[in-house]
Amino acid sequence: MIDTVGATTYVNPRMAAILGHSPEAMMGRRLYDFLTPESAIKARKLDVRRQNGESDATELEFVTRGGSVVPALVSASPLYDDAGELVGAFGMVTEITEQGRANEALRKSEQRARLQFAKLPVPTYLWEQAGDDFLLIEYNEAAEKTFAGFEGERIGRLASELFPGSQQVLESCHRSLAEGAVVRLDIAADTRLDGERRTFQVTIGPQLPNRVLLHAYDTTERTQLEAQLRHAQKMEAVGRLAGGIAHDFNNLLTVIGVRSTFLLEGLEPDDVRRDDVQEIHAAGLRAASLTRQLLAFSRKQIMRPSVISLNDVVDESRKLLSRLIGEDIRIETRLASALDSVMADAGQIDQVIVNLAVNARDAMPDGGRLIIETENIEVGRGEMAVDEFGVTRPGRYVMLKVTDTGTGMQDSIKARLFEPFFTTKDLGKGTGLGLSTVYGIIKQSDGYIWVDTEPGKGASFRIYLPRVEPVERSEERRPAATDIARGKETILIVEDDDTVRAIAGRSLRRQGYAVLEAGDGVTALALASSFEGPIDLLLCDAVMPGMGGAEVVRQVMAIRPGLKAVYMSGYMDDEVVRRGIVAESVAFVQKPFTPGELAAAIRNTLDTRSPGGRSDG
Ligand code: ADP
Repeated sequence: MIDTVGATTYVNPRMAAILGHSPEAMMGRRLYDFLTPESAIKARKLDVRRQNGESDATELEFVTRGGSVVPALVSASPLYDDAGELVGAFGMVTEITEQGRANEALRKSEQRARLQFAKLPVPTYLWEQAGDDFLLIEYNEAAEKTFAGFEGERIGRLASELFPGSQQVLESCHRSLAEGAVVRLDIAADTRLDGERRTFQVTIGPQLPNRVLLHAYDTTERTQLEAQLRHAQKMEAVGRLAGGIAHDFNNLLTVIGVRSTFLLEGLEPDDVRRDDVQEIHAAGLRAASLTRQLLAFSRKQIMRPSVISLNDVVDESRKLLSRLIGEDIRIETRLASALDSVMADAGQIDQVIVNLAVNARDAMPDGGRLIIETENIEVGRGEMAVDEFGVTRPGRYVMLKVTDTGTGMQDSIKARLFEPFFTTKDLGKGTGLGLSTVYGIIKQSDGYIWVDTEPGKGASFRIYLPRVEPVERSEERRPAATDIARGKETILIVEDDDTVRAIAGRSLRRQGYAVLEAGDGVTALALASSFEGPIDLLLCDAVMPGMGGAEVVRQVMAIRPGLKAVYMSGYMDDEVVRRGIVAESVAFVQKPFTPGELAAAIRNTLDTRSPGGRSDG
């Protein structure tokens, strides 16, 4: 026993004997005086810790009267008087013998192992075989934290009771013991981390003869990422396929569309065959619109982006929407007043709104509300949100949100929503291309899309498009009407597809133009040098085997400076429209085209001043 300044106030005979003193001789002397200098320092530190309420057994070295050093384990606790004043400390000294030292080391190492087991960040269990079942011998904190229903006294209870439905795991435990080998298996289990089902890889290590040690590694994030990757790869593959098909389709559909138009023009108004031809023409148009959607999904739709305000697009589409949607559904718009601009193709965004609105309508057969909102959004660092297919970059966005009060969706539908051809609608009602088109357009515009929905609670589609600096609004260019699109100029058509070339030629001749035709770049060059009259315009397919469209235009222009050019193209992989963007200065007609569209594109280009003579550069 020592007082508050460390002086000895009591010492028992055994302690005095170890140190070779009489108890009386030690009274009043400070404890530090009987320690080696190192231990004295350690003891002082211990005093401080004790005053902070920590008490721990510490090994100190005492020096005997004869000068030999005796190691001992000292534990001390504070002493208070009746009034609660601190008056000193009471110390217990245990001499450390070799045997004691070994025991102590063993105890320490066991304690360490136990602590490590307890603090292991992976849920860990020790099970002991009990017939067909296993008994829980030990589990750690991570296990307790992770698994639902893991409360109260669990030690000694049966695995089948603690984890109903864990038959597969039990079988693996038996197998691990029978084979004396580590067994791994993947399971899904309810946890209380987030109330959701998570996936785990369970590793079972045999501890022969009859125990197994289980670790459950959480693999949820990895599993989700893998699923996302598979999903993205699937979408990509379907997209590539769609793009390839659409290319050929566009040529075929051009033929169907243009030929049926010619036929119609040639038939008398009362001809009975008009109906048939009109049906063929209409079917061609429907097929063209499907092809366009496929291209949108594959992100190969030709895009003519400009700086726009989503508010304007919403305002524009409202008129159309009320006709599309019927009277039982109320349309509300909540548009942010100082909305930032985005870089997008207004026609495409319009398509997005219409597709979302049509789905909303179908989800509200008994009426409801359709709410379209816009808002400026800032995504900060560290709050990146993962959408279906990627992670948002931090930055400023403009949000377009379309919400309905309809049926909502279950997770199983939500998971497949954006897949092309996924539909829950009756045959003939849905194509399953609506949302895949939306997805394609948003991705093509560098945006993100999320859906928030629950069965019976409606659905809300959130779209983020990157914000851009606004620009002065340029005059809208309207394509000229068909009836004024005639002309007398000479046009050189370069197109490798014979049928498309033939109808383009026929179509333009009917509009009054003189037409030269070439099936490839080499023929076109030969014609450009040998033809004696003027050539005013080159109508050129963008994708051709051998010399591509852009190269043909370049070389023909070298021979005939000042020549104008219009490209024909069906989809975005085309050379001139690489990266999905057609500069507004590139004249262009999209396949499949109608005779009217072709004539309008040609006339517009002929009527603009040549690039060299443009005042705006
Ligand atoms: P389609 O409309 O032709 O079926 P989509 O790709 O547009 O194709 O939609 C796919 C499916 O997603 C729909 O069939 C429907 O089950 C579901 N869906 C889409 N939008 C909604 C919505 N707003 N509310 C409920 N379900 C929806």
